Amino acid sequence: MTLPGVFAISALLAFQPQAPTPAAPAEAQKGFRPVTAAFHIHTRFSNGAYDISELAAFARQRRIDVLGVSDSFLTRVRFGIGPLKKLVSQTMKRPGVLDRGVDEYFDSFERVQQAYPDLVLLPGLEVAPYYYWRGDWRTRLELHDFDRHILVFGMRDREAVRNLPVIENERWANTSHDLLRAAGPLIAFLVALLIGAVGAAARNRKMYLAAFAIALPALLWSYDAYPFGRFADPYSGKPDIEPFQKVIDYVAKHGGLTFWSYPEARFPDVLSGRARMISIPHPETLSRTKGYRGFEGLYGDKITITNPGNLWDQLLMEHLRGAHNPWPSVVTGLDFHFFKPAAGWYELDHGLTVLFSAAKTEAAVTDALRNGRGYATFQENPDRRLGIEDFALRSNGNVAISGETLKAGPEVEFGVSVRWMTGAAEGEGAAAAIQIIRDGSLIERYENKTPAVLRRRETLAPGRHYYRIIVDAGVTRILSNPIFCDVSLPN
Ligand SMILES: [Zn+2]
Repeated sequence: MTLPGVFAISALLAFQPQAPTPAAPAEAQKGFRPVTAAFHIHTRFSNGAYDISELAAFARQRRIDVLGVSDSFLTRVRFGIGPLKKLVSQTMKRPGVLDRGVDEYFDSFERVQQAYPDLVLLPGLEVAPYYYWRGDWRTRLELHDFDRHILVFGMRDREAVRNLPVIENERWANTSHDLLRAAGPLIAFLVALLIGAVGAAARNRKMYLAAFAIALPALLWSYDAYPFGRFADPYSGKPDIEPFQKVIDYVAKHGGLTFWSYPEARFPDVLSGRARMISIPHPETLSRTKGYRGFEGLYGDKITITNPGNLWDQLLMEHLRGAHNPWPSVVTGLDFHFFKPAAGWYELDHGLTVLFSAAKTEAAVTDALRNGRGYATFQENPDRRLGIEDFALRSNGNVAISGETLKAGPEVEFGVSVRWMTGAAEGEGAAAAIQIIRDGSLIERYENKTPAVLRRRETLAPGRHYYRIIVDAGVTRILSNPIFCDVSLPN
């Protein structure tokens, strides 16, 4: 079989001359089209340099279909001294969505969305669920885990957003109230009231003063203890996974999606006031929490967990065995604040996520994100983008694409087409390495010239399997989400 523009690949490939070439890629046959998304973008609502409307204009110039904005929800840490830690504390903060308010945030998106009907705006959030202190404030104070962030998309209930259970956002509505915390101030008030009442009966000024002397600290104590519940204790001196799980569960309950941000990022420590913010890679949070939708699998740092057989594959294998629902999907994370010349990650259109979406609407794009239908990519040259299509498993007349599960017989055909989606002529003939990973193991690595079409037929054991691919062409990388298949023996 010779297709124009398709190079003969390696002899390892099992071409099927009798297999009919599909008229359209599997994704298109299923009614999906590729939309190009830029995720993890900051606007002026947090510490980004641009307004939403400016970013929308940049996105249009750069042929980006979807802007996944994730402004920081609340960036505030406090170190309290003594018994009244809220009253007597040093606070460090940066702007976040809560400063201008959740309503203004969502309203702004709605306004800009109307002005840019060809662009899909996803109003998301970046949350920091927990932090804890270590060390002594007089000598060396360390702030831990404040860099462990979760991105939230698809939550539109504004009241639910306001009540996100993240540290520093304790409200009456979002904490379960601990009577023991309220008991101290309450008893003090009652004592003050009693002394006041006795003093009134006895017309004793000293007792009035005593009542007042008790009531005032009780009031301060109440203020400090309000809302008499807490998500986590920043003074425990130790890590705690619970606050992160709480956010993931809360967002899922309100119909949203969570993505772990930068699981392996190696940020330098930041000195802020007396405190040193300690940042260490935290890939283990992916296995210690469950129910999140995915994680940033590509960003401007060295990433190892997506290599064949590493943590991501281990989690996907656990998913095959029934754990980790939903399975963790990947997106590309920019953490865009402003343009940095000659730094590809901060040009908005290098680090992209391609989603297969039924339409260019917020609902359809969120559905693609929810189902993990697509791939994460970094593009060396955004004017000639390398892409994959017809990445599919076929068996018994059924077909599944990324994020889907194929009902298969033991005979399965794997296929993918790797080609230049824009500026094809310049890119053709570039060297690309395509790795095929099945069930956590690298099963084949092809060195090809682009464009390339791979097909292989395999007989699989009964049970659940998955395939995913990694394509590397220079610094351009494509990291696909998996296609699953469920093989049952023919009756
Ligand atoms: Zn960020």
